[in-house]
Amino acid sequence: MDNFLRADSENLSNADKEIEKILRPLEFNDFSGQENIVDNLKVFVKAANMREEALDHVLLHGPPGLGKTTLANIIANELQVGFKISSGPVLDKPGDLAGLLTSLDKNDVLFIDEIHRLNPIVEEYLYSAMEDYRIDIMIDKGPAARSVQIPLEPFTLIGATTRSGLLTSPLRARFGINCHLNYYTADILHKIIIRAAGILHVPINSDAAGEIARRSRGTPRVANALLRRVRDFAQVIGTGTIDLKIAKHSLESLNIDKYGLDEMDNKILLTIVDKFSGGPVGLKTIATAVGDDEGTIEEVYEPFLIMEGFIKRTPRGREATEKAYRHLNKINPGSQQTLF
Ligand code: ADP
Repeated sequence: MDNFLRADSENLSNADKEIEKILRPLEFNDFSGQENIVDNLKVFVKAANMREEALDHVLLHGPPGLGKTTLANIIANELQVGFKISSGPVLDKPGDLAGLLTSLDKNDVLFIDEIHRLNPIVEEYLYSAMEDYRIDIMIDKGPAARSVQIPLEPFTLIGATTRSGLLTSPLRARFGINCHLNYYTADILHKIIIRAAGILHVPINSDAAGEIARRSRGTPRVANALLRRVRDFAQVIGTGTIDLKIAKHSLESLNIDKYGLDEMDNKILLTIVDKFSGGPVGLKTIATAVGDDEGTIEEVYEPFLIMEGFIKRTPRGREATEKAYRHLNKINPGSQQTLF
């Protein structure tokens, strides 16, 4: 699959990362959707500002590309404090964490992406840092070994994860604010695309933005990436303006699925329909059949497929819906019976 269709950020080119930065909203008011989360965060940020205290630690979880990094940035910005960024796999040794924590100023925000991938030893050091703003570091080995306590400035840890199921309970319990980000509706993505087009100075018609929004898999990162590719078509074979005709032509040339489903989504649907006669089938069995792990299917892929009505959860497992059969151009044997 082409990189620009991937919702995760691991394969973004440097140019794409630069554009992501430009498009990243810096204030709550520019962040569309996720209203409940944003409304609550506004209150917590305001309260922390009034008390001149560090905001409580925040856990942001949800599929890739939905705005976790963006929200963390906005929180630091609205708190008017410094922002440092790291990620679970990068913080390999306790010393790395200690260095980062001791570099924070009062009430700063430390953002740790993919926090579920933290080394368990590093994670243990994080507990006292989060709870009491101190770290105990062991120095020396053998009989000379002793623990040195390093006090820290009060700070806010914002952890982001696509796999909240993999967080240990002691870590999870240390976050006072817990937010789950959901996939976006096409209406909200439409707004995000119009805003991004404005920043990139690309003229776009509303119906063309709607067409891109519907095919963006509920994900702002995908919406922004598609907008940039459609802009190329508009400039090279059109007039420079993105209208519906150019949008449709480009999305077809790019082989973008009508519903925005990606390769894994289609694989999951095909597996349920072809291998398990439409279900019900257990998550574990689906995961084995598609070669991915159960948690990723449950936390990353399934929520979108359920939201869009392609599969449903039943007490006996997952079932493909009529919409899934239509999408795959297959006949549902179950629904045929009702015809006769
Ligand atoms: P995540 O950290 O969840 O993977 P990001 O915060 O990096 O996702 O968001 C990916 C891109 O999508 C960013 O360029 C950002 O500008 C855009 N984006 C995400 N959420 C929103 C939103 N609610 N409104 C506008 N743009 C958004």
